[in-house]
Amino acid sequence: MTTTVVGYPRIGSHRELKFAVQKYFKNEISAQELSDIAAGLRQSNWQTIADAGIDTPVSNDFSYYDQTLDTACLLNIVPERYLKLELSPLDQYFAQARGYQGAKGDVKALPMKKWFNTNYHYLVTEFEDATDIKVVGTKIFEEYAEAKAEGFSTRPVIVGPYTLLKNAKFTGVKRPFDYAEDLVKAYSEIFAKLVSLGADWIQIDEPALVKDQTEEDLTLFNDIYRPLLDAKGDLKVLLQTYFGDIRDSYQLLTELDFDGFGLDFVEGTETLKTLKSEGFPEDKTLFAGVINGKNIWKAHYVSKLSLIDIIQKYAKDVVLTTSCSLQHVPYTVKNEVKLTNDKLKYLAFAEEKLTELVELDQRKEDALKANDALFSQPRYEENQAILDKVDALKPSDFNREPSRAERAKIQKAEFDLPELPTTTIGSFPQTAEVRRNRSKFKKGEITKEQYDQFNRDQIKACVEYQEEIGIDVLVHGEFERNDMVEYFGEKLEGFIFTSHAWVQSYGTRCVKPPIIWGDVARTQPVTVAESVYAQSLTDKPVKGMLTGPVTILNWSFPREDLSFKESTYQLALALQDEVLDLEANGIKIIQIDEAALREKLPLRQSDWYRKYLDWAIPAFRLVASKVQASTQIHTHMCYSEFDDIIQAIDDMDADVISFEASRSDLSILDTLQADQFETHAGPGVYDIHSPRVPSEEEIATTIRKISDKLPLDNIWINPDCGLKTRGVEETGPSLVNLVAATKLVRSELATHEG
Ligand code: GLN
Ligand code: ZN
Repeated sequence: MTTTVVGYPRIGSHRELKFAVQKYFKNEISAQELSDIAAGLRQSNWQTIADAGIDTPVSNDFSYYDQTLDTACLLNIVPERYLKLELSPLDQYFAQARGYQGAKGDVKALPMKKWFNTNYHYLVTEFEDATDIKVVGTKIFEEYAEAKAEGFSTRPVIVGPYTLLKNAKFTGVKRPFDYAEDLVKAYSEIFAKLVSLGADWIQIDEPALVKDQTEEDLTLFNDIYRPLLDAKGDLKVLLQTYFGDIRDSYQLLTELDFDGFGLDFVEGTETLKTLKSEGFPEDKTLFAGVINGKNIWKAHYVSKLSLIDIIQKYAKDVVLTTSCSLQHVPYTVKNEVKLTNDKLKYLAFAEEKLTELVELDQRKEDALKANDALFSQPRYEENQAILDKVDALKPSDFNREPSRAERAKIQKAEFDLPELPTTTIGSFPQTAEVRRNRSKFKKGEITKEQYDQFNRDQIKACVEYQEEIGIDVLVHGEFERNDMVEYFGEKLEGFIFTSHAWVQSYGTRCVKPPIIWGDVARTQPVTVAESVYAQSLTDKPVKGMLTGPVTILNWSFPREDLSFKESTYQLALALQDEVLDLEANGIKIIQIDEAALREKLPLRQSDWYRKYLDWAIPAFRLVASKVQASTQIHTHMCYSEFDDIIQAIDDMDADVISFEASRSDLSILDTLQADQFETHAGPGVYDIHSPRVPSEEEIATTIRKISDKLPLDNIWINPDCGLKTRGVEETGPSLVNLVAATKLVRSELATHEG
């Protein structure tokens, strides 16, 4: 066998690309300097991959911002409004990525969407009726040639035409089929050019194939690929899939004239089954994705080798590879100087995964032995009490009594809130001083007492401010939190933290997820002190503020030796203790944020409940199931596309939910209305992602729209999301307008009723 990878991270092991691109944005470096830094990063990737002993590295997996945008630009699929700016190709590219405001115009960025089931976000390609598809870019050719000149014989990769179309937006009357012919022409031209440069293979990424495929989808695929493969000439074409299996297209695909198929044996739960039942074409190469491209754990060689043995029974020509691009994992464990070897020896980031592929390929005895030794000992000490608690869970543990309708009556009497109660999502601006206080404490420049006192002063000012402007249900402001997941991870048992394990989330933004290392347990109160202090300052209710179990799981690196369901139940039990502790200490409203509930929703709709919602929703319910009827449970979600899972969200059985709505034109209201959504709801009345201050009238208009569609008793008034990324300058006026608008609508409603 030989070895390869689907793709490699590109942001730089110390985020060099992020910083360089940001400097370019600020005009601190030139396009040439940026290009030199990028070339250095590519060179270092190829060298690392070659040094590890991988047979074939890839090229064109580098990107200044996003590979989908790269492909669109290569093919001249650039909306008119950006073309009109007449910028250099690089600046036109960045204008689409992040918007342009300057001498030549004012244009917003392309919309961004989650890249399948990852936390990476791509820029949505926009096809207009006038889009003139042709090969205008040079990046793929230049990077192939650059690698070759440096002595690396690579397989260039590109996002495939089918995935490009499936992930795109169509602004005119033309539909995907209308672009097929031009795409075929353009990709054929790319093939020819690559052959002339000396390429043997091309890798075409078509992850869209792992979703449920309709007849029409398969026809589109067929219409594109039959003629395209006729034009491949001497080039060998690898059809690369990832993030799942291709059970519904396998037959069609293997009949087409591809030279190789990249299949995911990690997330593709039916890949092996399909291989066994359908076989594999004799004259083709199987690129077997056996090493997990998303997780950070070392692979267990014994089980991987037995998988490889089975694969080899069905395919003669096998190349070992990763399950998806390694862009979803950090660079290397070598940078983690703070973790000790008893932890490090279990971790494999991108660079270490290269070694795993080579060791699996070579089956060298000492490597296999060492790996086996690692897995023959327990990695961590189990927390038997927690395991028993999860085992003992029974249906009633997930059920809150009495019913939501009953609770609503009790809570109405309990809180006596005005009609259209106002609140915020939790965080207040994290000013420079707030961040400085944290960093001083981390560096040991101030004591814990000084650190806490500063935050208490912030809480006090925040509570007083909310009282002063007339908000009904207050928050403490979350000044003690750097990140809504890391904060809980640090206080719960079972997590470990890295110092450099950054993963690209989009463009120049990276995240550093905590790692769930062992059984999760709550050994101390997490949020009680801050909440109780805030509540002591006011007679109005102050919301306790927690991050929900599903969101903590989804924004961490999960364990591989325990199911997501069990891990999430452990988290839920820890949070349940926190909820009950808050309640016992006089906190009467508790918000449990599920900002990332949608993150791991399976790509195939047919799997939504069976594989995800059937435990994710109960996990949330478990957290809140034991509180008194008079305690009000809120939740919050950071997006508005939940039309398709609306029932599941109502089934979370929260009393109140707040969510993002203002950017999507409140279209969600119709769904809430149609589904007779029971949870009381606060659709965000203004967009906190922008520094713009919404006027009183603008917010009043939004509130009127909401009150037209939802029962008045069910409505809450709040912004879209937390305010932590906003400045104080815009937050104050926006909230003042929110309260004024609410009062205005209240009085309008009163006159109507009167
Ligand atoms: N309570 C959190 C905050 O206000 C929620 C953040 C989020 O939804 N991402 O910041
Ligand atoms: Zn949010």
